[in-house]
Amino acid sequence: MLSNQYSITEVKQIIGAEGEIINDDIISVLLTDSRKINTGAEGLFFALSGRRNGHEFIAEAFAAGVRNFVVKEGPEIKLPGANFLIVYDVLTALQTLTRHHRERFNLQVIGITGSNGKTIVKEWLYQLMAADNNIVRNPKSYNSQIGVPLSVWQINEKSDLGIFEAGISLPGEMEKLEAIIKPGIGVLTHLGTAHDEGFETTRDKVLEKLKLFRRCSLLIHNYDQLVDYQNDIPATTCFTWSRNFKQADLFVFSETIIKKNYYLRAQYKGHEIECLIPFLDQASVENAIICWATLLAIGYSPEETDKRLERLSPVSMRLELKTGVNDCSVIDDTYNSDFHSLEIALDFLNQQNQHKKKTLILSDIYQSGLQEDALYKQVADLIKSKKVDKFIGVGEALLSHRDYFDIPEKYFYTDTTELLNNLLTVGFKSETVLIKGSRSFEFERVSRALVQKTHETVMEINLNAMLNNLNYYKSQLRPGVKLMAMVKAFSYGSGTFELANMLQYNKVDYLAVAYTDEGIGLRQAGISMPIMVLNAEQSAFDKLVEYKLEPVLYSFGLFDDFIKYVQRNDIVNYPVHLKIDTGMRRLGFEPLEVEMLCDLLEENKFLRIVSIYSHLAASEAAEHDEFTHGQIDKFKTATAQLEECLGYNVIKHILNTSGITRWSSAQFDMVRLGIGLYGIDAAIPADNAALQPITTLKTSISQVKKVVAGDTVGYGRKGVMQRDGRIATVRIGYADGYLRAFGNGVGKMYVNGIVTPTVGNIAMDMCMIDVTEVDAKEGDEVIVFNEQHRIEDLATQIGTIPYEILTNISQRVKRVYFYE
Ligand SMILES: *Cc1c(COP(=O)(O)O)cnc(C)c1O
Repeated sequence: MLSNQYSITEVKQIIGAEGEIINDDIISVLLTDSRKINTGAEGLFFALSGRRNGHEFIAEAFAAGVRNFVVKEGPEIKLPGANFLIVYDVLTALQTLTRHHRERFNLQVIGITGSNGKTIVKEWLYQLMAADNNIVRNPKSYNSQIGVPLSVWQINEKSDLGIFEAGISLPGEMEKLEAIIKPGIGVLTHLGTAHDEGFETTRDKVLEKLKLFRRCSLLIHNYDQLVDYQNDIPATTCFTWSRNFKQADLFVFSETIIKKNYYLRAQYKGHEIECLIPFLDQASVENAIICWATLLAIGYSPEETDKRLERLSPVSMRLELKTGVNDCSVIDDTYNSDFHSLEIALDFLNQQNQHKKKTLILSDIYQSGLQEDALYKQVADLIKSKKVDKFIGVGEALLSHRDYFDIPEKYFYTDTTELLNNLLTVGFKSETVLIKGSRSFEFERVSRALVQKTHETVMEINLNAMLNNLNYYKSQLRPGVKLMAMVKAFSYGSGTFELANMLQYNKVDYLAVAYTDEGIGLRQAGISMPIMVLNAEQSAFDKLVEYKLEPVLYSFGLFDDFIKYVQRNDIVNYPVHLKIDTGMRRLGFEPLEVEMLCDLLEENKFLRIVSIYSHLAASEAAEHDEFTHGQIDKFKTATAQLEECLGYNVIKHILNTSGITRWSSAQFDMVRLGIGLYGIDAAIPADNAALQPITTLKTSISQVKKVVAGDTVGYGRKGVMQRDGRIATVRIGYADGYLRAFGNGVGKMYVNGIVTPTVGNIAMDMCMIDVTEVDAKEGDEVIVFNEQHRIEDLATQIGTIPYEILTNISQRVKRVYFYE
């Protein structure tokens, strides 16, 4: 048997499961997500319980061909021919199985942990050592309690070096990861001071991380970071580096910038050695020093190490979704290409519903550790199972294996230039195109050709961060409480179908938009889940029904109009929602009107009331808690009355984002999550790590000018220079959503990390900032807001709220969605 094939009987024994085995199948693929199953053959599905019980997905996995399951409880319905291994804890079983797998191989393993830089250091160590080893490593940043087992499962008899990163957020987690990775060499990356929810003190957190090195004979770490932990370091030998302490094994004493490279000199074994790093930012420099130390520690010569470090290439774990030419969407993943990251990128392609047609542009894959034949056979099978409609292969190897690819439409080219010369022949229109290539193919040229050019102010949206926020709020809900995501106003300015796709894929229960048009846009982009429309206009009822959108009825007038409409069209049981005004005094039936509403409802079979809701006016504010209590009470009374006269139960909901945070007793059957998805919650302090900001707004400098004291800048000569200095003109103005209120020093932007206030009035398409203190030049990036410089701060500067800042960003600002 191949090294990662196991018979199901064997698995049962390893994980100590109960349950009867019907067929002694062979398994080789571990599955944890029913949405991502390509082929059920040889798959073993672990029904992990998150908020949604993994057991609900068993049927889906079964339909995809899976016949072997690890579960906590047997399924309610009979699934013929399926084996169910019953265990006390499904995650533990996954970990036990992979721990067993790891034990069978005697390869060298490097284990990496720290607060920042784990993935970069892992990928760089891979780049640096791939020439001499057959390396197995985590795909992307799969470093969690689930990600690590799935990564380690890839070890096979050909692997001779493992490089695995481990990430933790709670006490007790590292011990489990250590047992699965079992590293013999440890690497500790940067330890941040970030506030960690799961730990009482920083010391506790560091001690937990150090547990990864329990059995290491060698640990590479920054001397300075562990000064206070000398007695806690478990490894027998340490190789230390430092920029401050001479006693470190690698003492970096000089750092200079030479032609866009970072030049480092250090003391090592009594000699002076050097290296050149092709990056300038401090995080990259630190990560590169860690790699430098690691290579030296494991025996590479200083000369060889220097030679390899010089050729490091940036690691982009990002999959970017951009607007393409000819109504295409483009997923840009042009930095790396290996089998597992291809699989992940294809899943992302599959999440996109906005176009029917799905296209993949792929380059040859290097350093897979497999024979070409076997590799491209696997690649062809994967692409077929992911239902790619059109395939463009670039490179000699793909060209010579073209017959493997059973895809309706396919093209092959020897190199990138040939593809670029043939773009018209291939033709791209209304399709989603995934561009995935090894670094040397320079696929960014392909991406440039296919992505729509717009002006250079960009809003970036981090889909992982959004998922994190979604999961955070889900974790606050009682079991069974549904979640409606508010994607009105272009998803609070962050996009249309891109976010909705992500929410649909992650199985939120409902979406809500403000107007019928927004709902139609989502349907046209392939969103099939239920959508509630807050303000359904009478003139658009036809469209509303055609696109299966569910209106909110909030007044007798609208109720009457809609009833007449459905009666006229012989529609029965149309799903609608009722809104009760419990104190916002905006839309909704008044509590006093509920009785009359009941009378109307009793005689009516044309409508099916799906849900009843109300909206809190001040859920975030403690000083209004009494009022909020009152709203909740009124809501309870009204819904009880309505359910009684309807004779059936409906979904009841009243909480918005801050309500979820502060009023957990009022979750009823569903909550409506809005701005929290974007990482903002007035009831949670901005520095709380539970939420992550998802948007970055950035622009660039079009010109830099010298000015002298007394010069005036911009319209109306409002900006008067108090001293000699320099100003930069940047490509953002009030038409982009950078409001005039930010003018004259109120607004602040960031250039190369340094704060630069605005000078003079904000113009329509541009504005000026004071860059006297910054080394700024044309083309430099300018940050308006991001993770560090928060939207909340901008809002405070001009006396507004984050909602307004976000929704003001105009449509001409290009949105780029990325996924790490
Ligand atoms: C916008 C909106 C929400 C979401 O509010 P957040 O404060 O952004 O969470 C909830 N309910 C209704 C009716 C809304 O209009």
